Amino acid sequence: MLSTITVSDIQWMATDVEGVHRFYEANRGLDVDYISFRPLESTGGSYYKDESRAFQTEEITAAIKALAEQDERVTLNFKWNMLDQQEDSCTAQWAQIALNERGEVMYCCHKPYQIVGHVMDDDILEKKARAQTDMRMCDIPCRMTAPNMFVAQAMKQRKDPYFI
Ligand code: SF4
Repeated sequence: MLSTITVSDIQWMATDVEGVHRFYEANRGLDVDYISFRPLESTGGSYYKDESRAFQTEEITAAIKALAEQDERVTLNFKWNMLDQQEDSCTAQWAQIALNERGEVMYCCHKPYQIVGHVMDDDILEKKARAQTDMRMCDIPCRMTAPNMFVAQAMKQRKDPYFI
């Protein structure tokens, strides 16, 4: 028997406490499974390197945790714990093919300026596999921060990482 599980989520990129409350109040009546708050992604993590943002970040995450105590749907996105996390290379970008409106394939969805080919190219997978990127221009955190960390740990600690 085939069954389908549907999970719905709304999320907001939280940059201030007032906004967290405003977003929650505006959307709490929705029939969703998760109301998620995530951090801002910036080139090289520059946004959170500004020292004045450290206290602000603590306030924001505390506000999200307080809401989560009242409403179990409220989720502190895991990237709040990875604000300075970056691996030496990106192994996880192969897991996505990000396109722009012209069908051009980007290195990854964070790098619309680095086009590696077109989705209709016969050899687009080879082009994507060959492409190199400048990790200094990566957004931190990014959508692949967690899988990259997982793979890096697997490479270091597990006997047969290529079988996972
Ligand atoms: S921005 Fe993220 S997905 Fe893109 S190359 Fe850098 S680490 Fe990989």
